[in-house]
Amino acid sequence: MHYFIPKRCQPTNKVMYHDRVQARIAADKIFRENGTELWTYQCEFCGTWHLTHHDPQESVARTKLSHSHKPRSRKRGYKPRQRY
Ligand SMILES: [Zn+2]
Repeated sequence: MHYFIPKRCQPTNKVMYHDRVQARIAADKIFRENGTELWTYQCEFCGTWHLTHHDPQESVARTKLSHSHKPRSRKRGYKPRQRY
């Protein structure tokens, strides 16, 4: 049995598509098969097109949000349910 092994981009380990149309066709195929919605974007490393699970603009907004939402460290020595 032979499987088609697509070329992968070294830095991102993503499948390389020659242009946006090729990537869009692949994304549509995956959407029909798995129901997974994918976005296309041009890679800054290799210049070909890749698929991503996240809307690139949405992921930027999410990163900003996570930076402003750091978990606060609890005060030391505070035991709310201690009995005497
Ligand atoms: Zn790439």
